[in-house]
Amino acid sequence: MCGIIGCTANHSVVQTVVDGLKRLEYRGYDSSGIALVSDGIKTIKAVGRVKALEQKVLGERATTAIGHTRWATHGIANEQNCHPHLSSGGDFAVVHNGIIENFAELKDFLLQRGFEFYSETDTEVIAKLIGYYYRGDTARAVVKATRRLVGSFALGIVRSGENKIYAIRRENPLIIGLGENFNMIASDMPAISHLTNKFVLPECDELVELCAESCNFYNTNLEPIKKTPQTVRVEQNTFDKGGYSHYMLKEIYEQPTAVDKTLRKYIVDGHISLPLKNYERLSIVACGSAFHAGLMAKYFIERVAGIPVDVELASEFRYRQIPSQNGRAVIAISQSGETADTISAINHAKAQGMDAYCIVNQKNSTLSRICTPLYTEAGVERAVATTKGFLTQVIVAYLIGLSHSMDKSLLYGIENFGRDLKTALNSTDLIQPLCSRFYTCPYVMFMGRGDDFPAAREGALKLKEISYICAEAYAAGELKHGSISLITPGVPVIVLANDPSTGSKTLGNIIEVRSRGGTVITFSSLSGYGLKEASDYFVPVPPSPLASLLSVAELQIFAYYIALAKGCDIDKPRNLAKSVTVE
Ligand code: GLU
Repeated sequence: MCGIIGCTANHSVVQTVVDGLKRLEYRGYDSSGIALVSDGIKTIKAVGRVKALEQKVLGERATTAIGHTRWATHGIANEQNCHPHLSSGGDFAVVHNGIIENFAELKDFLLQRGFEFYSETDTEVIAKLIGYYYRGDTARAVVKATRRLVGSFALGIVRSGENKIYAIRRENPLIIGLGENFNMIASDMPAISHLTNKFVLPECDELVELCAESCNFYNTNLEPIKKTPQTVRVEQNTFDKGGYSHYMLKEIYEQPTAVDKTLRKYIVDGHISLPLKNYERLSIVACGSAFHAGLMAKYFIERVAGIPVDVELASEFRYRQIPSQNGRAVIAISQSGETADTISAINHAKAQGMDAYCIVNQKNSTLSRICTPLYTEAGVERAVATTKGFLTQVIVAYLIGLSHSMDKSLLYGIENFGRDLKTALNSTDLIQPLCSRFYTCPYVMFMGRGDDFPAAREGALKLKEISYICAEAYAAGELKHGSISLITPGVPVIVLANDPSTGSKTLGNIIEVRSRGGTVITFSSLSGYGLKEASDYFVPVPPSPLASLLSVAELQIFAYYIALAKGCDIDKPRNLAKSVTVE
């Protein structure tokens, strides 16, 4: 999930590369590093955030440089494993996003030939292999080396004495940005969109050779190929927290606007317009929070439109034998549109002849290029834990259901969702004091029925991600089939209860938990079921046909203030990255 960047120009590019790394930091922040090209190659590395690297490069100058911000897959986050990695003798430096699956075999091959390794990474074998194949022609050495790689990669490569960057990709994203007297590589467009709006997106295994004045593309036989640059207007990343202490809090409060923008995109004059044909059955593939969005979509679409929906973890779907797919479409959900597992799942589905759609936030992303996109209008989301990204995904998925529903009254409910969401976000005054009461708990259980079950799962994931508290969600009816053994006096149990048809059943589950000493905090839009009286704490959810989704917003606030009380790094939680570009 690392971010790679490189720039070659007729002026010093060190700060440009560091600025790009800051923009890519969402992809990983275990360490960062840069290789500066002159007669030799100088690498500068720092464990932790890019600002640590920025201090170390002060005063450095180079007209060609590549940089990397790492989310460690192979080897811990230390300086040895930090990219760029060097060939033997240090003539080549490589930055890599991806995983080389046959790295152990290649390492053995090179060890037998006397090569020495200094890191635990899979990336170092690429640098050594390029050195091994070099006979005076860098392009040829890169092609020969990458032919031997199994796995995924986007690579930036430089050689001492050459004012050039070589780049090549397989599966993972790589963007070429063209400028006046400079050319760049990057993992995504926003990393360099403040410098250029002219981009080329190389296909798998095409080699790119950039210098300040030119950019050449070659096929796998090293024959030149012509590429036409496209001009793309990329939404500029904002680094402004808008007066909030964290991006996550800002993004939580941006949700009503993001939802309204998304609705306005698809509801015109009271009619829903989506580029989706009619299908007998839908398969949703996604990971993490997007998977929960898919589960919420399943409950809703099946209820309002009667279309069967299967929701699968992309990483599982990808390697499964899927039975006949007649009449079925696949819908990927991903904020970034770069999620490796989801991209693989879509390729797998397309190979089975399925029509493919994606609900994504990032325009021009890989998923939006390989599927018909249904964009969310969440805007740039910077906090690693998604909030507005998730909510707008659910809204788009709900619109799919509504566009096939006879019950047009629900359209009214969704059109007013932004207003109800504002009311829900006003519950902070009630939620924050609860957080000071519970932030030291080692374990929090969540439960809900129907739409509240995936909503509870998303609430639990949010808490886990940013506060590192062990949090699990259960279908409320399932608790007694095993997990109730975890309830001991004082264990907090968060209950979502927004479905009138199961209000009394959920009340029963609350009583069961309290009978065993659990502390119940209920988030509910229901009145008249005795839920408030039966609970230790009660947070109202605004009455709405989409109340479960409103309670997710309240649980985001709950997670935020728990993490704040614990002093966690809310916008960049440990071990996580915003865009997961490795399988
Ligand atoms: N496998 C490489 C490493 O661990 C790159 C990781 C990535 O792209 O996430 O350094």
